[in-house]
Amino acid sequence: MLAIRMSATGGPEVLTPTDTPLSAPGPGEIQIKHGACGLNYIDIYQRSGLYPMPLPATLGLEGAGAVTAIGEGVNRFKVGDRAAYCSSLGGYAEYNVVKADRAVQIPDTITDEIAAAVLLKGLTAEFLARRIWPLEAGDTVLVHAAAGGVGLILCQWLNRLGIRVIGAVGAVEKMTLARQYGCADVINYREEDVGARVRSMTGGLGVPVVYDSVGAATFDASLASLKRRGLLVSFGNASGPVPAIAPLRLSQGGSLFLTRPTLFDYIPDTASLDSAAKALFGVISEGAVKVLIAQRFALSDAAKAHIALSARETVGASVLIP
Ligand code: NDP
Repeated sequence: MLAIRMSATGGPEVLTPTDTPLSAPGPGEIQIKHGACGLNYIDIYQRSGLYPMPLPATLGLEGAGAVTAIGEGVNRFKVGDRAAYCSSLGGYAEYNVVKADRAVQIPDTITDEIAAAVLLKGLTAEFLARRIWPLEAGDTVLVHAAAGGVGLILCQWLNRLGIRVIGAVGAVEKMTLARQYGCADVINYREEDVGARVRSMTGGLGVPVVYDSVGAATFDASLASLKRRGLLVSFGNASGPVPAIAPLRLSQGGSLFLTRPTLFDYIPDTASLDSAAKALFGVISEGAVKVLIAQRFALSDAAKAHIALSARETVGASVLIP
């Protein structure tokens, strides 16, 4: 089968299309023939070495398709079911073998492409919107990278909960898209003073929660946008990791809270994975969250997909097609 392998960290050129043997599932595992593979920013952190992983490896954490074989003791799936996963390496390939209890059934109404586009990003939006802070209908929040993969889903989900979203994006065309997907107001953070704009949009108060996946470039503006005792959710590093900060800054900013969450701590077991996936497929089927797949790349073009994602040329989700 075709797999995108890497034996060293580095730029997109380390991603090497390779003919590799297909493995059979061991106990508790299933083999999936991918209809589509997910592309996520975390793949760039792993490729570049920011998030270390054992090498050589097949990159990619997410895929969706048909179950083609099951290992001993598996009763969550049978051959012919459709399954998706988002926390097992080996995603950039025609097939992957994953733990059955880290995969979910794909509802009939959801295609493999949508499942591969939405599972990791949508489960992230789920815990950010519903579980990280007790937001209430009528609250206003700030979402950075609002036109990106996680961004568009998160903005719609927050909207569904009655929360007003201010989106921040890095290009004029992305402002229109963010508005179409649930932002009441949009700021261009390449041109505007985000903290000042957020304060002017909130009667000088600031917002109770800022969702910041951009990292180094937006961290200060995020702190400047929070209201007293607000929460900064720093959940990504697209512009580079946030440097160390002194706790005193949180006090000076108004007794602020800071969290640096990762999805995998919000779906640590099968019950929490199933419950979050059920909520995600629910908001999609009721039409509250629409999944925009704006880019499709051939699996063999994974390096091109990485170049586009890191150059800020993509919007919404991207998938790799085997
Ligand atoms: P996106 O589609 O959101 O792509 C990243 C976006 O970040 C770009 O489109 C760009 O939007 C913005 N950006 C700002 N500065 C830069 C920069 N210097 N270089 C590149 N991009 C920049 O990616 P994903 O939806 O896959 O992921 C979004 C973020 O969420 C990532 O940081 C990811 O790591 C994080 N994440 C975290 C998880 C967790 O558990 N903690 C789980 C899933 C995702 P613009 O042009 O508008 O600025």
